[in-house]
Amino acid sequence: MTPKEIRTQTPHHDLPGGQVNLLGAVSEVTPSATLVELGGARLLVDCGAPNHDHGWELDGAARKAEAVLLTHAHFDHVGGLVDLIDGGFDGPIYATGATHAIARILLRDSVRLEGARRSEVDAFTKRLDALARPVSYDAPVTIAGPSGSGVTAWFREAGHILGSASVELEGAASRVIVSGDLGRPNSPILRDANTSWRNHRPVDLVLMESTYGGRVHKVEGESLADSLEEIINRSLQDGGHILVPSFAIGRVQLLLYLLDKLVEAGRVKELPVAVDTPMGLRVTEAYKDYKKLYDREAVQKMAAGDDPLDFENLFAVNRHRDSLRLAGVETPMLIIAGSGMCTGGRILGHLRALLPVPETDVIFVGYQARRTLGRRILDAAGSEVEETVWIHREEIPVRAHIHQLHGLSAHADQAELTGWFGAIPDARALGLMHGEGRAQESLAQAVQRLTP
Ligand SMILES: [Zn+2]
Repeated sequence: MTPKEIRTQTPHHDLPGGQVNLLGAVSEVTPSATLVELGGARLLVDCGAPNHDHGWELDGAARKAEAVLLTHAHFDHVGGLVDLIDGGFDGPIYATGATHAIARILLRDSVRLEGARRSEVDAFTKRLDALARPVSYDAPVTIAGPSGSGVTAWFREAGHILGSASVELEGAASRVIVSGDLGRPNSPILRDANTSWRNHRPVDLVLMESTYGGRVHKVEGESLADSLEEIINRSLQDGGHILVPSFAIGRVQLLLYLLDKLVEAGRVKELPVAVDTPMGLRVTEAYKDYKKLYDREAVQKMAAGDDPLDFENLFAVNRHRDSLRLAGVETPMLIIAGSGMCTGGRILGHLRALLPVPETDVIFVGYQARRTLGRRILDAAGSEVEETVWIHREEIPVRAHIHQLHGLSAHADQAELTGWFGAIPDARALGLMHGEGRAQESLAQAVQRLTP
């Protein structure tokens, strides 16, 4: 049903008996933090920060929150917790168990990167653990405010990364749904986003992400393994290494799942796979701790005795000095390393060593933003003449084969977003967030077309 009102790029929303203020992600894909005042309680849904941005500061209004609810453990949704807790926040932090587990890995790493000593990292983790309130999907959680009747919260599957949720909030005077980031239907490992909502009263406000609100993904989730198989087998013909730059959270695990599928079915043979990202390895362990959240296909694999994130010839590379040795290994191997857009991490060393080698193949499995090394490599590959890129102040010729695997997006596209919204009965207002202006406008028009 079309809502009475669709708002784009709007930071403030009034509610019956409350209000919602977006402290980030109003008209861009920037860190999310949404302050919801409802039933006399002040709740912060997500508390994100940009990656490694030293000039960034948390919006002061976030510090007024009495409780935090996390939709999922990407840094742009949880990274600000370090600042919030250091500033004295001591309220409960509600999230699914998987989100808590992954956020803990991320935040420890973030505190360490800021230069904290081991004892300080441990002290922060102790404070974080004391505030953590793990919740189950679809189970009501009562959050009392200092005044008023309080709020009941539900965490509904969002299908974006393991543990991801949309948050449904209900107070005496109003009802709100915050989508969080929404994944694509039929994504490997992950269950699809929730589409069965209770229909007992109208939803006063739905806040929906719009990252890909203006786009249509061409590749269906089911055909991803076919595309990956084709690229790998083509890459293997000349006997060079295959490099896969990848985000550590969510993406590494999807890749392992697809590779497991190909290896177990004999579609890719005798290819050693190295996971050369300590963060990716830790998050993969967290995924394995929450197997109960996997989708049906993954659960069936487990029932048949297959660990869907593990297969023969899969190697974990924890130590930096082992990472340095990989490029020199003579037989071809596939190396998964961070970061996803080649802006840092161990992939840089591999690219420096192997981009000049014509037998090398690089497979990009995600979007490459402007001004990143990943984008420069992609652009160089499309050029008629031999191009170079700069890595660690060294000019490196791009002679490797460059591929892009489409469809492995963690975000729903326009039709999938309108589909998600369309399943909510009787939404009075829709606010779009976490997307650029043009994406929001395009998505708003698509929602309007839902019913003439
Ligand atoms: Zn996300």
